[in-house]
Amino acid sequence: MALVSFVFEQVQRAEILSSLSQRPPNVLIVGGGINGVGTLRDLALNGVDVLLIDRGDFCSGASSASSHMAHGGIRYLENGEFRLVREAVQERNRLIENAPHLVRPLPTVIPIFSLWSGLLNAPLKFLGLLDRPAERGALVIKLGLTLYDAYTRGQGTVPAYRFDRRDKALAKYPRLNPAIRYAATYYDGKISSPERLTLELILDAEAEGPHARALNYVSLIGAQGKNVILRDELTGGTFEIQPRLVINAAGPWIDQTNASLGLESHYIGGTKGSHLVLDHPELRATIGKNEYFFENKDGRIVLILPFGDKVLVGTSDIPVDDPDSARCTRDEMDYFLALVARIFPDVRVNRENIAFRFSGVRPLEKVGAKTAGQITRDHSLREGKFGEVPVYSLVGGKWTTFRAFAEQVTDRALAVLGLPRKADTRSLPIGGGEGYPWTGYAQLDFYNRVERETGLGGREPQRLFEKYGTRALHFARYIRQGPDEPLRTIPGWSRREIEFLAQKEKIVHLDDLFLRRSRLAWLGQLTRPRVDEFADVLGNALSWNTDQKRAEVQRTLDILADRHGLHL
Ligand SMILES: Cc1cc2nc3c(=O)[nH]c(=O)nc-3n(C[C@H](O)[C@H](O)[C@H](O)COP(=O)(O)OP(=O)(O)OC[C@H]3O[C@@H](n4cnc5c(N)ncnc54)[C@H](O)[C@@H]3O)c2cc1C
Repeated sequence: MALVSFVFEQVQRAEILSSLSQRPPNVLIVGGGINGVGTLRDLALNGVDVLLIDRGDFCSGASSASSHMAHGGIRYLENGEFRLVREAVQERNRLIENAPHLVRPLPTVIPIFSLWSGLLNAPLKFLGLLDRPAERGALVIKLGLTLYDAYTRGQGTVPAYRFDRRDKALAKYPRLNPAIRYAATYYDGKISSPERLTLELILDAEAEGPHARALNYVSLIGAQGKNVILRDELTGGTFEIQPRLVINAAGPWIDQTNASLGLESHYIGGTKGSHLVLDHPELRATIGKNEYFFENKDGRIVLILPFGDKVLVGTSDIPVDDPDSARCTRDEMDYFLALVARIFPDVRVNRENIAFRFSGVRPLEKVGAKTAGQITRDHSLREGKFGEVPVYSLVGGKWTTFRAFAEQVTDRALAVLGLPRKADTRSLPIGGGEGYPWTGYAQLDFYNRVERETGLGGREPQRLFEKYGTRALHFARYIRQGPDEPLRTIPGWSRREIEFLAQKEKIVHLDDLFLRRSRLAWLGQLTRPRVDEFADVLGNALSWNTDQKRAEVQRTLDILADRHGLHL
């Protein structure tokens, strides 16, 4: 098996900062969400000297607020977005193939309450004559799913859709609302950790060589002549670099970032979307391995999907002006809880079941659409300049289509830099998806190999594989190089595993570990003693003193309470 060939030593933050004066980057990417990071990887593969910065941690903006779906979006068909849906289902399949440790096929059930509804609406919407969203009926959904499958016919990555009448549907999904008339079942993909996927793309990019670098907690704050001014958010110190091209991948903050460069733009008309993570074993057992994807009576999209041992429910689509203020409100919480009851009327959920909540802003193109749902989810590259330096703004886009968007941006950048394309990313594995053992037998082989090569035995190879894919081998090697012990307060974690994350995965703050290098906070697994123990182990690995550890714990508690309604 060809396995994990990437160079693994991560260049440390201080080294990257000091390297910038000796080796100034040709391209600066502002924003470490999925679109900026996808572009970083593609440019790195093609030998471009590139620096990516994010003012916070990587994948802490819109990219961490998604519904976790790698999907084509059948709904967009009725807005006439055929190109987008075709591209998105193809990219969904690529994600399932290239990052199988983090993106898996997701059986999706659409409960349908009428035969005709939406049938007349669809062509009217297509012509832009209908400004009122409405619930779709069976015929519209069947048409959409047929087209959806047709786009990927012959690929075989996921099975084709099925359509069941009421009796058969209720036999399969017995706790569904008996008022349904049909249920359709089709497949999309689920991204279990968008944050880890983003991070692994960064590590892959940096493994291409010293020409590819990424820094979290560095902001773009201004421009001076041909220089852009950056600020290290850890020290407050500022410094300047002179790139030949700036790629503005700041998501919902694109217009503010352009303003810092002295460039006026009005590209973004963002909409807020929130989600709840419910701790409700009965609901979790009811949905099983399926996502339930349906529309509220007013046509707004609702999804209920398995999320570890929890249930993810979302989402809203509310126009907002300030992306920093997006929070899941009480009204949204009540709206989501009521929707669960519409689909599973005999399952009782209430606010007590909320283990975690999150909210973010879709960086949608500012257009004159009549409703938020009608705003295009397609991506576009907008060109501007500060002085003579070109600035590409990456507007819109879906998580699912990041690779295709990055390819488009990279082609344009390579042309401007006068470089040929040497490599492409269509079939390139991501991080722990490299050399992935697909079958049960192959996975057993992999665990044996980890044990043989590192001496780490028992259930440990499998535990690491389930979290990190084939990168488990690197974790195991590191773990075996020193004395290790399990954490006291939580099963499934060891001290050297955390040290490895600290040293190799660009952790700066304690919340990076809970929210983005792991799913601990998302899955409601944090308690105060656990936060303290992780702070202690991580702090030792990052040489924090007692005051720093205390400050990091407080920062984490504040973030969890303010943004995620989690009071520990
Ligand atoms: C609620 C919701 C649900 C969604 N669901 C799905 C889904 O299920 N499937 C799907 O395919 N797509 C989904 N999307 C869409 C998708 O998540 C986004 O389109 C995508 O993540 C946008 O990524 P981005 O890199 O452009 O922006 P972001 O992820 O927001 O990244 C921009 C980054 O720029 C940084 N930044 C801003 N200003 C500066 C500065 N001055 N200096 C340095 N850094 C800066 C920010 O910190 C941020 O990290 C959803 C989006 C939302 C909000």
